[in-house]
Amino acid sequence: MTASTTKTCSKCGTERPVSDFANSRGKQRRRDDLHPSCRVCRNAYYQKNREKILAQYAEYRNRPEEYAKLRQKRQQYQVKRFFYVRASNLKVRAICKDQTATTAEISRLWKKQRGICPITGRRLNRESAQLDHIVPIKLNGSDLVENLRWVHRDVNYAKRDLLDQDFYRLCWDVVSYSNLKPKRVNGDPKRMESPCLKLF
Ligand SMILES: [Zn+2]
Repeated sequence: MTASTTKTCSKCGTERPVSDFANSRGKQRRRDDLHPSCRVCRNAYYQKNREKILAQYAEYRNRPEEYAKLRQKRQQYQVKRFFYVRASNLKVRAICKDQTATTAEISRLWKKQRGICPITGRRLNRESAQLDHIVPIKLNGSDLVENLRWVHRDVNYAKRDLLDQDFYRLCWDVVSYSNLKPKRVNGDPKRMESPCLKLF
């Protein structure tokens, strides 16, 4: 995928050079790491709501405990609406906003998988589960439910933009390089030491 030099603002819908968009520094990982709305729109928003924003900051500084409580409440609400939040996140990052899996679809997917990661067999919970694109977004995979599955977050991090075949190849290389014989550390079956680590 080649980086495009222009981007369409989500607010005014104008196509502008990428230099007109600020870098996105939030937790939300976007495909191009740029803000969805252009600098002009963001500046206009700030000018229009300046007092309100500054008042919010002031209040935040003056009553930190209240805000900690509020944030906690928001987090609890998000946990409650687990599937909804995941579906919304898909939509935020999607290029085709009308072609993303719905809340109901990803909830059904969870039930269909019985909360098990299909790659590791690990039992998933709401902290460890992540939605994986079977064909990665970078390889033009879609955000539709057919291209999604719930996997353990470690799998998702390790797999990143790999196809299954390339990911399995990586796992195979790791295991075969360690001579296929992991050694138990002090008899503890959970702590494995692979011989290849001794090389370093
Ligand atoms: Zn704009």
